[in-house]
Amino acid sequence: MNRIGLNIDSGRINGDLELLKRDIRAIAEAGFDAAEVPIHGVDAVMNGDLCVGRVKQVKKILNGFDLEYSVHAPDDLNLQDIRYPEIHRKVFRATIRFTAEIGAKTLVYHQGKLRGNNGDVTEEEVRQIEIDTLIDLGRLAQSEGVTVCIENTYSSITHLMRLIESVGEKSIKMCYDFAHSYIYMNSTKPGHDFIRSIQVARPYVRHAHVHDNFGKANLESELESAPPYIEAMPMGIGDLHLPVGWGTIPYEDVFRVMDGYEDTYILELQERFFENRYSVLKDALKDLRAVLERVDAERGESTRGGGLSVDPLPRFERQIPYQQRKYK
Ligand SMILES: [Zn+2]
Repeated sequence: MNRIGLNIDSGRINGDLELLKRDIRAIAEAGFDAAEVPIHGVDAVMNGDLCVGRVKQVKKILNGFDLEYSVHAPDDLNLQDIRYPEIHRKVFRATIRFTAEIGAKTLVYHQGKLRGNNGDVTEEEVRQIEIDTLIDLGRLAQSEGVTVCIENTYSSITHLMRLIESVGEKSIKMCYDFAHSYIYMNSTKPGHDFIRSIQVARPYVRHAHVHDNFGKANLESELESAPPYIEAMPMGIGDLHLPVGWGTIPYEDVFRVMDGYEDTYILELQERFFENRYSVLKDALKDLRAVLERVDAERGESTRGGGLSVDPLPRFERQIPYQQRKYK
């Protein structure tokens, strides 16, 4: 059975280490095996330098719990931002060091997006800069015992696979965010097979983000003027970061094609699900575990029955709609 972790929400923590401690305690008490720590949420880096005292305080809190940790880089860290390339590299290096310092092995970084280009450089040149930078950072990561997992946002999985191939460092792999890919595929590539994209990307995947939505893109989010969550939720639009089973992502099929994946699944929930005395967390874990167990049991049956007869392709006809839990 895979380890299951929960994200620590950067905006919610917002530099409050007492709240960090409370949220981690809730995560441990709910029965999760792991937690993903946002370096920016705990004020551990400033202008590209690690805040050493702060890192010590964070480490002390983390050490108080028996959880495996991974790290999430600042969401705005972007190796394709050509306005301030040096500061992005510096923050990236500091984040790798932070990851090693707290004893984590995995660092998640969002795939770069071209920013600040006034026509001086071509997209191809910027992509090459990102590749070269990732080669350098990959070597630093390797020396620190860290794997950098590049996460797909509202972006193409094929491009991400090509990027990882071009970098060619053992320490640069993929964090597949199923829910981001589901929205992207549904809204930009109708007819493209979401499950097939996971199957193709599977050899690159060393970390995965799990949450739910209704596959409807919030196109304004590209313009940074997305409606607030309370407006998006009633319409089921956008990257809602819901517990598994609340949206329409066919997670049984997802986990079927993730056969052989032994790393951690991080359930990545919107910050409102940490409220109400954390009442949603236990159910969210139970529901995710139940889906994983169903898929595992099915795998066991098919191997007992006929040796290596596991169907490598998803069986859509066996998809059973999830029961919606009431959100109180
Ligand atoms: Zn994610």
